[in-house]
Amino acid sequence: MLDAFGREIRYLRLSVTDRCNLRCRYCMPDEGVPPTAHDDLLRYEELLRVAKAAVSLGIDRFKVTGGEPLVRRGCVDFIRHLKALPGVRQVTLTTNGLLLPPLLDELCAAGLDGVNISLDTLDNAQYQRLTRRAHTADEVLCAVRLCAARLPTKVNAVLLPETAGQLIPLSELAQALPVDVRFIERMPLGTVQTGQTPTAAAALDRLRARWPRLKPVTEPRGNGPARYFHAPDLQGCLGLIDAVSHGFCDRCNRLRLTCTGLLKPCLCYEQGVELKPLLRGGADDAALQKAIREAILQKPAAHCFAQRKNITEHKSMNQIGG
Ligand code: SAM
Ligand code: SF4
Repeated sequence: MLDAFGREIRYLRLSVTDRCNLRCRYCMPDEGVPPTAHDDLLRYEELLRVAKAAVSLGIDRFKVTGGEPLVRRGCVDFIRHLKALPGVRQVTLTTNGLLLPPLLDELCAAGLDGVNISLDTLDNAQYQRLTRRAHTADEVLCAVRLCAARLPTKVNAVLLPETAGQLIPLSELAQALPVDVRFIERMPLGTVQTGQTPTAAAALDRLRARWPRLKPVTEPRGNGPARYFHAPDLQGCLGLIDAVSHGFCDRCNRLRLTCTGLLKPCLCYEQGVELKPLLRGGADDAALQKAIREAILQKPAAHCFAQRKNITEHKSMNQIGG
């Protein structure tokens, strides 16, 4: 379905939880966030009903996210059911990778089409500082290696001042492994209010210095806003997501559903359509479809990360479903 600005909305991010086994500094406060009561979380059947209604409006690609989606029991079965819905073309997962290795066989059997693994540094001590937990970057790297052998895999790193030295080592993963490595500008949401953040443009200059034959990839790759680049000695591509500085809103194709059932047209604004009252109030499929259409039509022309005073979304990324 087209939104009010003529953009075709084909992609829905489904958050299954706001809980997480990490506390990344740019995403979650140290003390965590008050846990959502179990009853407030959408049940998997409810998420599947939303997905079915979304498919009827032309949304055929889904990303399962969180919080950390793999901490919620039953996530793999949910992915299997989601992928089996008629009309669903693609289901991918965004994860920090820590719980992935023992679930990989089941996830492949469930029909998962790809995995994004978040990894901001290869340095174990820095990983622990950034995530405020005792897990290591090596654990995540192990998940990346296992996953890359089985499924299309992307490594996502947020650009942070303290990890500037990691830009090239992380990018070299795309040389050693068949993975895309993408760098995303840190967005001023939740716990991240102020401070300079490295830009994607500056990162690209450094990537070009390391790979002088780096060229933009012109054919479409992925569902999102990343600009991809390739060089002859890379197995995967390098990607940049200039979420803040560039503004890719004119190509935005997505909605997000929080784990409590708020269907959000844009990351930056708290506005959205509450689906839980419909799901639990006996609404039929037509009413659900109407509510999703309403959220699509509410999509603003652009985000407002450049004018922070206009940001009305105060939840942290794990609650929004980043
Ligand atoms: N826990 C999973 C993970 O880390 O991949 C899924 C949820 S996490 C919220 C999804 C993505 O959002 C991660 O890649 C994370 O790095 C990113 N993220 C979180 N806070 C962000 C921020 N303030 N700016 C940019 N990206 C952010
Ligand atoms: Fe958890 Fe992902 Fe947020 Fe890190 S970025 S705290 S792994 S939800």
